[in-house]
Amino acid sequence: MKDEYDVIVVGAGPAGSITAQTVAEKGYNVLLIEKRQEIGDPVRCAEGCSKDTVSPFIDLDPRWISAEVEGARVFAPDGTLIPMGKDSNKPGIVLERKIFDRALAQNASKSGAEVVVKTSALGLLKKNGSITGIRARSFGEEMDIRSKIVVGADGIESKVGRWAGIDTTLELKDIETCAQFLMTDIDIDPDFCDFFVGNNIAPGGYAWVFPKGNKMANVGIGVVGSRTNEMKPIDCLNKFVKERFPEGKAIELIVGGVPLSRPIERTVGNGILLVGDAARQSDPITGGGIYNSLRCAKIAGDVIAEAFSMKDYSRNTLNKYEKEWRETIGKSIEKNYRIKELFMKMTDKQLNDLARSLDGMNFNEMGTLSLIKQLIKNNPKVFFELRSLF
Ligand SMILES: Cc1cc2nc3c(=O)[nH]c(=O)nc-3n(C[C@H](O)[C@H](O)[C@H](O)COP(=O)(O)OP(=O)(O)OC[C@H]3O[C@@H](n4cnc5c(N)ncnc54)[C@H](O)[C@@H]3O)c2cc1C
Repeated sequence: MKDEYDVIVVGAGPAGSITAQTVAEKGYNVLLIEKRQEIGDPVRCAEGCSKDTVSPFIDLDPRWISAEVEGARVFAPDGTLIPMGKDSNKPGIVLERKIFDRALAQNASKSGAEVVVKTSALGLLKKNGSITGIRARSFGEEMDIRSKIVVGADGIESKVGRWAGIDTTLELKDIETCAQFLMTDIDIDPDFCDFFVGNNIAPGGYAWVFPKGNKMANVGIGVVGSRTNEMKPIDCLNKFVKERFPEGKAIELIVGGVPLSRPIERTVGNGILLVGDAARQSDPITGGGIYNSLRCAKIAGDVIAEAFSMKDYSRNTLNKYEKEWRETIGKSIEKNYRIKELFMKMTDKQLNDLARSLDGMNFNEMGTLSLIKQLIKNNPKVFFELRSLF
């Protein structure tokens, strides 16, 4: 490692790797650091997304696609089924993120970024109100590394934003705390990603079963942080698995959090920019953050390259990133946050009634938003406060 780069990216998840790749492709010196010794491991993800959400950022590769699915199914607390998203143009996939994240980092490296594992950011260097680099520990050795811009892509536990004076605090009600088993020897429908809602299953959240091929699946549960006193995610998960997959075996356990907040107040400063979970850019309804991270990272990379062409690394210039992600991903986060807030307050009876209100409808082309629109249409009183959103 050198002691100075144009850009330092902290965290080699999807957000960090795409930012690093985008900037390096334009010919700037980029250092991408990852505190763990293996990129993508442990995985901390249910790995569900669709081909069209990742294909703009990386060539599809069967090495990191565990399974392809026809669609998703939501089960109400009483078992009423809502099949959705069976759209042949947008086939769903379940990733193998251990390979996917490494492929993204490899692409960043191929584009010229220097990728270094087992290297943590410990703090930021500052001069005259600007961020000018990081204090890092690499393989046990502490050092200062300077740069014109630091990118905080350090995930939900992000410290980079806080060090820069950006408020990234999440309220407990805006965090989903999750536990997930990778299960084997279970009988599931391999063609669907399944979601189960209900206050006795996952208070304020949901359980999921995402097939990974060969009778394997990610089986997980997210409980909203403000209700973990009622039931801990791991207890919910054990109960769910015991009831539904008594014969299955758990061969991996992961725990992690997902931000479900509305867009935070700012994600840029002088010489600093936050992206991905560090910028709280995941979807408040589903908790999905892969696509949002990739998309925002591309915007971030392009804006950083522009800042270099102007030789101006100030907040003013980086604000272009702020503006662009807020106008796109930010708008859907804002909308979905309001929907999430309403769903979180619902009783099991209300959830069952909503599911039944869709009886007999054709869901073949239904995604999350069209499903919600239909729910609002069928239940105008329940969704009165959301009427202005659609
Ligand atoms: C249980 C669970 C299930 C999920 N399921 C889905 C799903 O099915 N679909 C979906 O789209 N999204 C899902 N998500 C969300 C998704 O995993 C995240 O939104 C996504 O990984 C965000 O990418 P990122 O690059 O911003 O952060 P991350 O992938 O978290 O990467 C951040 C990286 O920064 C590193 N880092 C942190 N601090 C430092 C430091 N100081 N120095 C150096 N490196 C550091 C971390 O080790 C990590 O590798 C799930 C999340 C969880 C927890």
